[in-house]
Amino acid sequence: MARDSEVAPERGGIRSVLTMGSLVSASGNENVRYMFLAGALCRARGEDHRPLLRGELAPEMRDLHPVLAAAYHKLKERGAGFEVVLVSCDEDRPSFERFHRTMPWPAVPFGDLQCKKRLSERFQVEGIPRLVVLAPDGEVVHADAADLVHRYGGGAFPFTAARVAELEADDERKYASQTLEKLFSIVDGRGYVNGGKEQVPISSLVGKTVGLYFSAHRCAPCIKFTAKLAAIYSNLKGKAEDFEIVYIPMDKEEDGYLQSCSDMPWLALPYDGAPSRELARYFNVQEIPMLVVVGPDGKTVTRDGRNLVNLYLDMAFPFTEEQIRLLQEMEDEDAKGYPQSLRHSGHRHDLNIVSDKSGGGPYICCECDEQGLGWAYQCIACGYEIHLRCGRNAEGGSAGTG
Ligand SMILES: [Zn+2]
Ligand SMILES: [Zn+2]
Repeated sequence: MARDSEVAPERGGIRSVLTMGSLVSASGNENVRYMFLAGALCRARGEDHRPLLRGELAPEMRDLHPVLAAAYHKLKERGAGFEVVLVSCDEDRPSFERFHRTMPWPAVPFGDLQCKKRLSERFQVEGIPRLVVLAPDGEVVHADAADLVHRYGGGAFPFTAARVAELEADDERKYASQTLEKLFSIVDGRGYVNGGKEQVPISSLVGKTVGLYFSAHRCAPCIKFTAKLAAIYSNLKGKAEDFEIVYIPMDKEEDGYLQSCSDMPWLALPYDGAPSRELARYFNVQEIPMLVVVGPDGKTVTRDGRNLVNLYLDMAFPFTEEQIRLLQEMEDEDAKGYPQSLRHSGHRHDLNIVSDKSGGGPYICCECDEQGLGWAYQCIACGYEIHLRCGRNAEGGSAGTG
């Protein structure tokens, strides 16, 4: 029992974390289950804290609080014992008030800087939004449940490891029995996709490798990737591969959707937010563009189609693990023809060749801005990495003595 004093801060209940009486429109509910840390002005900062994010956040991922509010109302109706508290990091009172007015839950008062500072230190908040979930005894149940709320809404409650395991097992069962027709009838029920002026029945896609392309018109990374994907699509079509792509619109407006359709040579899910959102949730689409590849048997081959296209272009087809392993073996062979070190015009230090076995890993090429994996030329001190081919292609690059 002597050990109790060591863990006392975690055992002090919610009151040790928050002084309930001081909340703006406090309900006095001791059963705090969520703590929502966010701010109107610094939401952009929250989007920046995912270091590997190279696309745009999918529209549904952009704002946590509408999704959380929907879950909140449902859970309140069910009588689940919980509360959400907004801990805003807005820099001025009007922004805070505007932001808080859009939410159904209480907030730490704007002026209570001490409380906000204490909370953000205690929960080591670096990026927002952040959703810390606390048990009634004040213990942290989940350090950041934002993704769970996006994915499962109120179904994620009470956010315990056991609940998360249950949800994941449900997903696995769904994925294991997945077929193309199920995928589209789950979300649509109409059984067709748009292809130019005609409607194409889903049944005609069965048995093909199908790319589900989550993208939006007003999204710079999407525009760039669409162009690349279109070239690959036409190559594969030229080789008469059994391949099709279906655009899953993440557009907020129909105008954008129509624009996208006219830019894309492939099929499109009809414009109607709900089915696309349902598919995005099912495949856990967090950023766009995203390319999910479904195989001839209707099962998911990969959710990483975008990286595979960036890395291997049309050679990635049919995107299977076996194909990727083959390509990696070819790359290993290919790398033997490159010098061990290199002086590259884009960097002031010598670059050394690395593979994922010798300190390499996924990276963004500093020369062409595209994804790289495995082999690279690297300056480890500066974190500078480029593709082997980008080292070779660049003007002024010269082979060192390796
Ligand atoms: Zn490159
Ligand atoms: Zn360097």
